[in-house]
Amino acid sequence: MKRKNIIKFTDSVWDYSETETSSHISFIKMDKFLVLVDTGYDETTAKEIRDYAETETGFKFKYVIITHYHGDHTFGTNVFKDCDIISTRSTKKILEKKVEKDYKDKNIILPNVTFDVEYEIKDDFKTIKIIETHGHTQGSAFVYIPQESILLTGDLLFADMFPFAGDPSVNPYLWVDAFQKMIDLKPNIVIPGHGHIGSVKDIKEGQELIKEMIQTIENLYEKGISKDQILKYDKLPAFTKEANQRWLKMTIDSFYRIVEEKFKLLSET
Ligand SMILES: [Zn+2]
Repeated sequence: MKRKNIIKFTDSVWDYSETETSSHISFIKMDKFLVLVDTGYDETTAKEIRDYAETETGFKFKYVIITHYHGDHTFGTNVFKDCDIISTRSTKKILEKKVEKDYKDKNIILPNVTFDVEYEIKDDFKTIKIIETHGHTQGSAFVYIPQESILLTGDLLFADMFPFAGDPSVNPYLWVDAFQKMIDLKPNIVIPGHGHIGSVKDIKEGQELIKEMIQTIENLYEKGISKDQILKYDKLPAFTKEANQRWLKMTIDSFYRIVEEKFKLLSET
């Protein structure tokens, strides 16, 4: 049943998301093996995708790339325990803490291959680049395949949706830089963490949204307006009206904290 949602985008990239807003699971066919990007929220779906991919291509999965630690991208890792699981060192560090507490009842397999800054998977024809940017979370990374001009953003992009930007390790300033790195690559196809498959235009919109949120919070902070007052403030950017209000509150909370840190640091120097 779920198979009909699996869409082939280029010669070697397939993608699945259960609903218009749920997390994407993608897989890439290399010349002798398969690579998964994010495992989705549950083992049943991960298993279905695995079975479909291996039957369809005749290849086996060798690597799983985890773009960041959130459960809707990692809870299916158990289905791929025979593969190398790759993430940034920061993502593994946060996951290690999460599996001791909040993610205790999930069968998460921790990454066994970690890196800082950049990592590559290659075959004779293709390269998969994994680039660490932080932003959405500490350790967030995106995946880029230059030969196919396709970019898989992880949750650095929520296409046409207000993003989840309330993670305790979110960094909006690094997030803006992350968008710029993705824009500079000029990909033809953009697979977001959530939302519809898009293009560079969607990345630019995502960047504008985060920039506007930063600008708004900075302005209000400088005027001495408190965090709680901001939520009631009637001149927030128009897109916040459409936002999931819980996510919006979390975003304001975390952006306010980071803006406060920035201004305190500036006043000390
Ligand atoms: Zn996320």
